[in-house]
Amino acid sequence: MASGEGRRHHHNLVPLAVLISRELRSEKMEKPSVRYGYAAQSRKGEDYFLMKTDCQRVPGNSSSTFSVFGIFDGHNGKAAAIFTREHLLNHVLGAIPRGLGQEEWLQALPRALVAGFVKTDKEFQSRGTGLCLFMLSFFGPFIYMNVASVGDSRCILDAQGGAVSILTVDHRLEENVEERERVTASGGEVGRLSIFGGAEIGPLRCWPGGLCLSRSIGDMDVGEFIVPIPYVKQVKLSNAGGRLIIASDGIWDALSSEMAAKSCRGLPGELAARQVVKEALRTRGLKDDTTCIVVDIIPPDNSVPPSPPPKKHNKLISLIFRKRSPDSSNKIAKKLSTLGIVEELFEEGSAMLAERLGNDLPVGQSTSGLFTCAVCQADLAPSEGISVHAGSIFSTSSKPWQGPFLCADCRNKKDAMEGKRPSGVRVV
Ligand SMILES: [Zn+2]
Repeated sequence: MASGEGRRHHHNLVPLAVLISRELRSEKMEKPSVRYGYAAQSRKGEDYFLMKTDCQRVPGNSSSTFSVFGIFDGHNGKAAAIFTREHLLNHVLGAIPRGLGQEEWLQALPRALVAGFVKTDKEFQSRGTGLCLFMLSFFGPFIYMNVASVGDSRCILDAQGGAVSILTVDHRLEENVEERERVTASGGEVGRLSIFGGAEIGPLRCWPGGLCLSRSIGDMDVGEFIVPIPYVKQVKLSNAGGRLIIASDGIWDALSSEMAAKSCRGLPGELAARQVVKEALRTRGLKDDTTCIVVDIIPPDNSVPPSPPPKKHNKLISLIFRKRSPDSSNKIAKKLSTLGIVEELFEEGSAMLAERLGNDLPVGQSTSGLFTCAVCQADLAPSEGISVHAGSIFSTSSKPWQGPFLCADCRNKKDAMEGKRPSGVRVV
């Protein structure tokens, strides 16, 4: 009996080495891998960055690992850049409901990114100093990419096939008409610096404050219509992989996206990042903090970093963003993705919090009847929460008693960002 047990037991045991190699094999077969490097040249010491590849969607579950890369380009000091690097990721993750599956988690991310950015900005302001602009990228368990940005840092994608595209938008007033209109409508003034004699110089700025950007985290001395609400894009990359270049404006003032991508093709991450910085300095000199992160997403069973020379024979293998629309069946999407096409799952850049937090509770939200503030996650008594849609011009189709809800403090922040109370008047 005992020996029978033993035999059966023995039969069921799989040697550890076999397990490990099986694990490695399946990891290798199913998952692309991520390699990365960074380089920086400092002038003002205000650029900070984050590279974290061991985050887990489900704590303890190694198959739910994701990576985060961020550039935090401070202005007028480094305090906001440091604060944002320390807190933003936790605030974003804290805004995602617990217990979600992978797909629901990805769906909840865009809203969580908005909440996390606003919470970080709010917390930093209450501490009193500093300024910051910023950028963060998530790569889901596979090749799902979330990019969130305020300000003028940029993330580009160099996909297999040599097509380069920008995954962020530029929140410089000079470049962005929509943002100029929004700021003006909220009570800000947009103009250039005037020098003696009336001549105007430099880029468009927003007054009060004189900032060249329309969005940032932690700016105190500017109108509250300089909002921390990020542009968010979520894309699904074909399994051919690709390269991301995330960098502060020191790079992009010197190089176009194509120039940056071309300058480092074929080099592994660390060398590639150095090469991009070198190229920017060669072109323009060291005029600003210049920070660059290069992330290679390497297809399974391919040990060579993606370094695609543009292929002339097949113009189909160029990067086309395909928006997920009701008429695009999964079949079509699948076919296109095997051709090296990037599928755009989500894109939203509105500066209006009510639009960004949406109407419905995220899938899987607790149904216990407890409310939490959609921005700062503070617990709310049933009578305390104010619907994000209450009094909003976007509320026509929704009911003011429907969530998501905000605490009084976050509601004040929302009103200020929408120009509904005078800038600089702090409601305590
Ligand atoms: Zn709140």
